[in-house]
Amino acid sequence: MIIGIPRALFYYYYSPLWKTFFEELGLEVIFSPPTSKDIIQRGVGLAVDEACLPVKTFYGHVDLLKKQVDILFLPRLISVAPKEYICPKFMGLPDMIKQKILDLPEILDPVIDCSKSANQMEKTFLSLGESISSQRLLIKNAWQRAMANYLNFQKKVKSGHKYFQALTEESLKSTSKQTNAKAGLQVGLIGHGYNIYDYSISMGLIERLEKLGANVITAENLPDNLINLQAMTLPKPMFWTLGKRALGAAMHWVNQGGIDGIIYFSAFGCGPDSLVGDLIERYCRKRNYPILHLTVDEHTGEAGMDTRIEAFIDLLERRKYHESNISTYGQSFSSC
Ligand code: SF4
Repeated sequence: MIIGIPRALFYYYYSPLWKTFFEELGLEVIFSPPTSKDIIQRGVGLAVDEACLPVKTFYGHVDLLKKQVDILFLPRLISVAPKEYICPKFMGLPDMIKQKILDLPEILDPVIDCSKSANQMEKTFLSLGESISSQRLLIKNAWQRAMANYLNFQKKVKSGHKYFQALTEESLKSTSKQTNAKAGLQVGLIGHGYNIYDYSISMGLIERLEKLGANVITAENLPDNLINLQAMTLPKPMFWTLGKRALGAAMHWVNQGGIDGIIYFSAFGCGPDSLVGDLIERYCRKRNYPILHLTVDEHTGEAGMDTRIEAFIDLLERRKYHESNISTYGQSFSSC
């Protein structure tokens, strides 16, 4: 039996866990290929106009995968952490897909809702396992191995390994650490994982920044406790999991230093990001901290993106040069 997982949305967070779990239960797992222009166009043709780019892209992946698999894994994500939520679009996604895409294979769409307890994830997967195998011990072991693999992936990312490399199983063995860029420029990149780590959606933003000499750090590289510490200082709790991570990371970088500027990458029409993005921009601007907000949809061109990031990197370099000259001048002055 072949189970297909679309290489989109929460693939970018949980694929190490999902893949190991299903393989341990004896299924062959295939992912749809990396997002291409063709996949995006398929999705655009199928999804409602109002959907954001990553959701449209998800449709394209499902449409491509449906003929190659016996089962499709389309989890109904509500929450992955207590008292926090994922965007409501995830909740209705399996229904929207079933309505719009014909000739679908069997769908596995477990409800993942950890809003009341973190243990709910385990309970959901154990019960999902029972729909695939009757061997309880096998299911339990599959869950434990899947979780171990997921934690290993998280550990690598937090210790500075490149996120996308750590995400794929092969590279778990040989991920390279992020290197210091030649200009020593550190850029904090914030955005939903399914946007910034998807090469086509982000138009290779990480690689473009690296080519310009920047070392890119993302919110996923930061330990959760540092993000939570900042988020706790907000007047009201941020209940979007991805929004909290974005805001907490930005606040950490602004307050602790070590990052020269922040790029906030979001999808046009994203409800949660219209709020979170604005909060981040205000937080940075109030503290005179450089921030660039990039918004994309299916019509965004690469030339416009290049112009904006080149100008931003140029600004950061000038600012850094200026600051180092002021501090050198200050040192020599004080040593006179
Ligand atoms: S959070 Fe925003 S980008 Fe993500 S699925 Fe929801 S609307 Fe789309």
